[in-house]
Formats: sequence, C-alpha cells, structure tokens
Amino acid sequence: MARPKVYNNFINGKWVKSHTGETFENINPADKTDVIGKFQKSDARDVDDAISAAAEAFKKWRLVPAPKRGEILYRVAQRLWKDKEQHSRDMTREMGKVLAETRGDVQEAIDMTFYMAGEGRRSFGQTTPSEMNNKFCMSVRQPLGVCGMITPWNFPMAIPSWKMTPALMMGNTVVIKPATDTPLSVYNLIKAMEDEGMPAGVVNMVTGSGGSVGSPLMHDKRVGCVSFTGSTEIGRKVSAACAPDFKHCHLEMGGKNCIIVMDDANIDLAVDGSLWGAFGTTGQRCTASSRIILHKKIYAKFARKFVARAKALKVGNGLNEKIQMGPAINEEQMNTVLEYMRIGKEEDGAKLLCGGGRLKGGKYNKGWFTQPTIFGDVTRKMRIFQEEIFGSVTDLIPARSYDHAIALANDCAYGLSAAIYTSNVNRAFAAMRDVYTGIFYVNAPTIGAETHMPFGGTKHTGNGHREACTQALDVFSEWKSVYVDFSNTIQRPQIDNQ
Ligand code: NAP
Repeated sequence: MARPKVYNNFINGKWVKSHTGETFENINPADKTDVIGKFQKSDARDVDDAISAAAEAFKKWRLVPAPKRGEILYRVAQRLWKDKEQHSRDMTREMGKVLAETRGDVQEAIDMTFYMAGEGRRSFGQTTPSEMNNKFCMSVRQPLGVCGMITPWNFPMAIPSWKMTPALMMGNTVVIKPATDTPLSVYNLIKAMEDEGMPAGVVNMVTGSGGSVGSPLMHDKRVGCVSFTGSTEIGRKVSAACAPDFKHCHLEMGGKNCIIVMDDANIDLAVDGSLWGAFGTTGQRCTASSRIILHKKIYAKFARKFVARAKALKVGNGLNEKIQMGPAINEEQMNTVLEYMRIGKEEDGAKLLCGGGRLKGGKYNKGWFTQPTIFGDVTRKMRIFQEEIFGSVTDLIPARSYDHAIALANDCAYGLSAAIYTSNVNRAFAAMRDVYTGIFYVNAPTIGAETHMPFGGTKHTGNGHREACTQALDVFSEWKSVYVDFSNTIQRPQIDNQ
C-alpha cells in the first residue's frame, strides 16, 4: 500500500512543517485501515508564525480594491467547480458522508465563494441626508484585521468557506484551524486559493488539536475576530477567551431541532422529510431533525411508515453510490451515540422502535457504523428530548394540539432550526412566528439551508450573529460613519439647527 501523503501547514504563502516535527493521521471513518494522509501536529509556535504573517499581509490586503479581491474569489469558485468531484471523493473518504452529500458540501463552498465574490462590487453602506446644510453623511464597512477560524468536521469545506470568503472579501486576513478529523477538505480549499493567486499571508492554515492550535489562536491579542463553529461547550470557552479584549466573536453551536407534523399534513411528504432530516449526514448536522413532534391523531400512522423507511436505509461506505447513510465520524462520537441509545432504552416510558445499537459484522467492523434509531413516546423531561446527540437517533413525541406542539418545540436549550408540516396556511404562519429559532421551514425538514439566506440560531446555538448572506459581512467588519462638512463653518448638530 502506498505511504500516506504528508500535508504541511500553509503559512505566509508556503507549505511548511510544524515546529513539533510531528504529524497525525487522517483516517477514513468507514474503513479505519484507510489512512488518507498525515497532517502537521502544530502548536502555539506555528499559530504565532501564522498570525504574524496574517498581520503583515493585512497591511496590503485591506487596500486591494474590493472588486479585485472579488475577482480572486471568483476564480477560486471556478476552480472548486472544476475539481468538485475529486474534492467530494476526498471528503467522503475523510468524513464518511455519502457522495451525494459531499457533492452538496463542495457545491455550498462554490456557491458561497461566488456569492462573496459578487460582494466585491456591492458591500453597500448608506448615504443619507445630513441635518445640517452643506454636509454629507455615509457609512462604510472597515475590516477587523486578522480573523481566527475554528471549524468542525461535519461540513468540512462548506463551513470554512462560509467564514473565509466573507472575511477575505471585507479585506481581512485569515488563520484557520480545521477540525482534526477533516483537514484535507480545508487543504483543498486553501490550495485552490493559492493556485488562483491569493497573496502570501492572506490565508494561513494550521492543523492540530483544539487545545494546541485553537486555544492560542483565540487568545492571541493580534486577532481581531474569532469565528467558531462547533459544540456549545467549546463555544463557551471561545466566548470567554474573546471577552477580555472585546474581540468580535462569532459562535455557531449545537442544535436539537424539531419537525412538527400536524393532523392535516401530507403524511408521506412528512415521512420523506423526516427521514432525510434525521438520518442525512448520519444525523451529524447541527440542523438534524432530532425531535419529531406528532399530532396524536396521526402519530401511529406516521410512526409505522417512518420506522419501516428507517429500517430500509442502506448504511455503509459513502463512496458506494447506493449507500444512503455513512458512519459516525470517529470511535469517540460513535460511543457517544451508543451511550445515548442506552440512555434512551432506560428512559422511563420511551419505546425503542428500531435500531438501538452498533452495526457489526463484515464490512461494518472496519468502521464506526450505528443503526438508524427511533425512540417513540418521548417526553420533554427525557435526556434524549433535551440533549444534542449528533448521530443516527431521533425521537417521536406525541402532541395533543397545535399549542402543545409549539410549547414542546420551544422547550429546548437550543434554537437553530425547526419545521412544520401542515396544509393549513394559518397554522404555518402562526408557527413561523411562534417557534423561536434562527431558521424555520414549512413542509420541508430542518436541514437544507441556502447560502444567500442568513444562517444561525438563537439561545444556546448562537450569540446573535448570522453566517452566510450579507449578514456574514457584519461578523467580519465594523461600521464607520463618515461626516463630510463642506460648509466652511463650524456647525453643531442638535444645537445650531434648532
Ligand atoms: P467541537 O468539539 O466543539 O470542535 C469544533 C472545533 O473546535 C474543532 O476544530 C476542534 O478541534 C476545536 N476545539 C476543540 N477544543 C478546543 C479548545 N479547547 N479550544 C479551541 N478549539 C477547540 O465540535 P465538533 O465535534 O467538531 O462538531 C460538532 C458540534 O458542532 C455539534 O455540537 C454541532 O451541533 C456543532 N455544529 C454547529 C453548526 C452551526 O452552524 N450551528 C454547524 C456544524 C456543527 P479538534 O477537531 O482538534 O478537536
């Protein structure tokens, strides 16, 4: 077998080894004998080098006209498009999700990069009349400097692109720490930027663990903004690290998303959507449909159809086009999911309707495969109702009425995504208003965001910012209000004009 390729950090336009001289292995979760590559096990010294390079590059990059910055991004998007199939295969190998989904992940990076390239000729501010004579008012965005980015493994190229492209567009420079489980997709994104002429130091990648790379990155005083996507537990640490220097801090964290199915819904459509929402990406999406709240009148019918479909899902190596659900990302995550299956079986009143364990035997022994698992009769006090599992487990929760369903939907620490299936337009609009989340769907599952819409959540999912769309620009820039007085006199607003 060929020896795995060694990948380096990208600092100041060069591919360099880490100070430790050590590497870690990137393993295929569907086949742990498949070592995809070796990546640098970096530490604070590498982070320091990368931040120094980014701080130096910022002096010039911020002055490059925005349409020119956009042109580079435009070419990057085209290159990603050209290499989409290879990047998708790399991603399925390192992350495990099926090819159709990794193609979607790369496509999302392409869409976002094109979108932000376009911002080169927009990034609009305001011009507005002054309250004084012969005076002009406008607002402009200004960059923040070096932006640190810490990203998760479940959307290995899409999420890094959501952060990097708006930051670059605004004239910032970037140091990114990819998830340890999926550095190859970030390497592919950075390589496309290098190949399309991104100046040295403008983007930098340092691989390694959260503690050795993420932590020094978020604590460094030269970093003007930290953008983090991952668990609420680590997000809280990021928030605390940013607080002393009042750094811009952007957090996208966990979810416990619900689909409400009303008694007037198209049940087959709701089953289709719930299957995709719950078991797409093996349930490892922040937006996964992990609570399905069913009106009592359709509970039994929905449960019967849904369980039959979940049992029929084809689980395996995502490189096989026939496979519908891949493995858990790693052994630790698989064990967390198995632990929640155990907890669910012991919850007083919950019923295991299908799955409930690890898939074993033959090809399954090579990877971290879990069964599509559904618990019925779940109630709000249960841990499987309240806690994010991030795996192939979902709950069916009976509701007495619309009001009861809404109360259940909101009874949760997180607020990322929610959905309602109903044919009653009044109920659909009421639910849009009544469920407190950042994203809401009608007659579609909780997953499936588009890049030109704001993305993010309320409560313990986020800290008020939004990713994607033009809202992403707010994370990576600060407004400056500019007043130009051409009256040649001293004019005092609120005083001289009263
Ligand atoms: P995680 O454990 O919080 O890790 C996220 C990132 O933080 C990784 O790069 C990780 O590095 C790094 N990290 C870990 N410990 C750190 C520390 N002490 N200091 C600085 N950085 C640290 O989350 P995950 O398991 O990768 O992802 C799953 C979670 O992400 C779920 O909760 C999911 O809901 C959430 N998520 C949210 C969104 C959203 O948009 N709301 C999207 C996707 C995922 P290592 O990889 O080296 O550990």
